[in-house]
Amino acid sequence: MASLSLRNICKVYPNGFKAVKDFNLEIKDKEFIIFVGPSGCGKSTTLRMIAGLEEISSGELYIGDKLVNDVEPKDRDIAMVFQNYALYPHMTVYDNMAFGLKLRKVPKAEQERLVKDAAKILDLEQLLDRKPKALSGGQRQRVAMGRAIVRNPKVFLMDEPLSNLDAKLRVQMRVEIAKIHKRLGATIIYVTHDQTEAMTLGTRIVVMKDGVVQQVDSPKNLYDRP
Ligand code: ADP
Ligand code: ADP
Repeated sequence: MASLSLRNICKVYPNGFKAVKDFNLEIKDKEFIIFVGPSGCGKSTTLRMIAGLEEISSGELYIGDKLVNDVEPKDRDIAMVFQNYALYPHMTVYDNMAFGLKLRKVPKAEQERLVKDAAKILDLEQLLDRKPKALSGGQRQRVAMGRAIVRNPKVFLMDEPLSNLDAKLRVQMRVEIAKIHKRLGATIIYVTHDQTEAMTLGTRIVVMKDGVVQQVDSPKNLYDRP
């Protein structure tokens, strides 16, 4: 079960800046939560705290019924997809996708099976030997997604994963993400500036401003007002 509970979560950066203030949210298993809000309002910081990449200054984060504030990123059963893809340039597509499995000491044969399954889903089978610089933007994006799904995590965090793609690819990938959500039965938290993405993918939308949650509502209630 991958419900999440964010209780009074705050982030104060070492320079004293309060980036996130008393963030409270109960996320149900298999929800698709969208974070929206102006640049600098604390969306990435919140994702990074959930992933364990940024320390939580105060408050509690539960995944299922487990308090995870002090759990290492690799032990959180969470995968994150970044806007800039964050692929390792010197590694092949295969090695990029297998990296997280290797880190967790998954046996080699099992790694290969998982990478090939993910490559099939994402239509990357012909590209496994290439380096990232020999890929198009859309292909890189799919590798970043592949690296996340090979581990079959219960929770996916995606920080504007489609914002570097052209309009046509963005529509295609949006459809792919909806499919992946269904197929994996994962809980997803997704940051976007794109209202169409928010409306078509989201089960609920969290509106942030200046580090504060301003509103939590369904896409319909939020965007369908006259
Ligand atoms: P968003 O993802 O909504 O654009 P961020 O979470 O990236 O916002 O940033 C929230 C605020 O925290 C911004 O004002 C940003 O400049 C600030 N911030 C981010 N990282 C740091 C840091 N390491 N030290 C100090 N301030 C930071
Ligand atoms: P984005 O808006 O795309 O989320 P940012 O430009 O806010 O990215 O941040 C890029 C990197 O710089 C992040 O690692 C963030 O933590 C760091 N950063 C952002 N603002 C500050 C800041 N005021 N002081 C120190 N580091 C910062």
